[in-house]
Parts: sequence; C-alpha cells; structure tokens
Amino acid sequence: MKIIRTVSELKSALAEARSHGTVGLVPTMGALHDGHLSLVAKARAANDTVVVSVFVNPTQFNNPADLATYPRTEEADCRLLEGAGADIAFIPTVDEMYPQEDTRVFDLGPVADVMEGPMRPGHFNGVAQVVSKLFDFTRPTRAYFGEKDFQQIAVIRRMVELQGGYDGLEIVSCPIKRHSDGLAMSSRNVRLSSEQREVAPCISLTLKASVNMARERSLEETRRWVTDTIDRFPFMKVEYYEIVDGLTMQPVKNWEDTEYCVGCITAYCGEVRLIDNITYFNHTTSDAK
Ligand code: AMP
Repeated sequence: MKIIRTVSELKSALAEARSHGTVGLVPTMGALHDGHLSLVAKARAANDTVVVSVFVNPTQFNNPADLATYPRTEEADCRLLEGAGADIAFIPTVDEMYPQEDTRVFDLGPVADVMEGPMRPGHFNGVAQVVSKLFDFTRPTRAYFGEKDFQQIAVIRRMVELQGGYDGLEIVSCPIKRHSDGLAMSSRNVRLSSEQREVAPCISLTLKASVNMARERSLEETRRWVTDTIDRFPFMKVEYYEIVDGLTMQPVKNWEDTEYCVGCITAYCGEVRLIDNITYFNHTTSDAK
C-alpha cells in the first residue's frame, strides 16, 4: 500500500490506474474501526484500485473542542488499511487540502435543512467542501459511505448533483456495523468511560424495540417513546429523534405518509455525541437506498 500525502502525487498515481480500471474511494477521518473497514472491503470487492482518505476535516467541525479531541491514530490506521487490501492511503495535511480558504457555499437544499443541519451549522457545507475536493482529486468510479451517517449520504448525493455528477460516479451506501451489544461503531466511542460504554447500547436497543411498537402506535407516540426511554438512562440525553422520509430526509407525521421510513437519532452519552438510525420500512424500489 502506498501512503500519499500530496494532491499532485495522488493525481499522478491515479491517472494511470483510471486509464485501465475502476477506482473506489472511501473517505474517512481516521481512527479506523471495523465500520470503516466494512466500506473498504466493499470497495476492494468491486474496484481495481482502492483509495482510502484519512483526513480530519476542520471545515466540518462546528465545535472546536470536538475537533481538538477527535482521535488521531495514523500508524494503526495504516496497518489496518494495509491488512484490508487498500492500494492507496491518502493522508494530506490541512494546508495541502486547503491551500486557500474554501469559501464555497453549496446550495444543499432541504436535505440539509433538518436534523444535523440546524444542530451543527456549517457542518454539511464543510462535508460538501472536503468530499468535492476528494472527488475532484480522485475522480472515482464509486465512492463508499456508511449509513450510520444517514443524512450525510443524502447531502453527498445532492452535492454530486450540484457538481454535475462527476462522470457518472456511483455513491454506494453501506449498512451500519455494530458491536455485539448493538452500539454503532464510531471513532468517538473511545471517549466513553467504561460506565458510559455500558449504557450507550440503550440507543440501538431502544430503536430496535420501537420497530415492534410502530405496528400498534402512532408515529408521534413511537417518536416520543424512543426519546423518553433513552432519556431515562444515566448519562443519556437525546438531542433529537426524527422519523423521516429516507430519501428526502423530511420529517413525516404519519406512517402512511412515506414508503421509506427511517428514524434518525442523536444523543449525548455524557459529553460524547452519538448518532444512530433505524429503518422502520422501505417499500421503494429505488437504488438510492
Ligand atoms: P468518519 O471517519 O466517521 O467520517 O466515517 C467515514 C465513513 O465511514 C463514513 O461514510 C461513515 O458513515 C462510515 N462509518 C463510520 N462508522 C460506521 C459504522 N459503524 N458502520 C458503517 N459505516 C460507518
């Protein structure tokens, strides 16, 4: 595996790869775990060349403390990527990615106006900035994103549309990888104390239980039950729980109002902000799942 730190080296390494094969890109912020590696495995299975970027993107952090405490484990990341069969680890500095301030404002529309949008002002614009740069530099055939960040995938699809499609680039969404107790894997989990780590699975367990409940209760009752149940656990505070249309991200009022129904949650466990989601049902035949 090649470790590349500059954009010019990345472009020249890929010019050849792209001329005779497919390129899969997996954007990450490092501190890699099995969730990330499941994306790399999917990319490895479908592409001739696999590029994984490892870059803690400052423009998507609206909270400086979160940026400062974000785990950075480059050596371990490289070992894991080598083991997962990546061809290139792209690990640029902030100056390399942003030689000038990126002042672009993306018109991300309604998908970015809800949930993480208002809660983390500027976050999705920062995500669009960094991912569009990565797409420009890499020109991938396919790019892989995890459904843990469910709304982010809709935002990326919108950004791709705004940028003209990147030559038919396919956005591949990948299922959430969980620990055996149900907690969604996340780089932030290492910041949980051992007591908090024991409590944190209440998020996914409650979401799962709510799927059965949804058969008998209204959407609003289910939504409130999830929030109230999680809030009763020590350390836990739900920031929002929204039940949305899985394509438009817009909150729905009744189960019958959508064909693709997903519950998206953000909850604090102590100081650590955790996100998760669950699909209640998906009756669409759309590829954009
Ligand atoms: P991050 O490093 O947190 O920016 O994540 C990089 C990519 O890995 C994003 O597309 C995430 O959605 C994805 N990812 C992170 N955690 C998981 C997980 N537990 N399961 C599946 N994908 C994940």
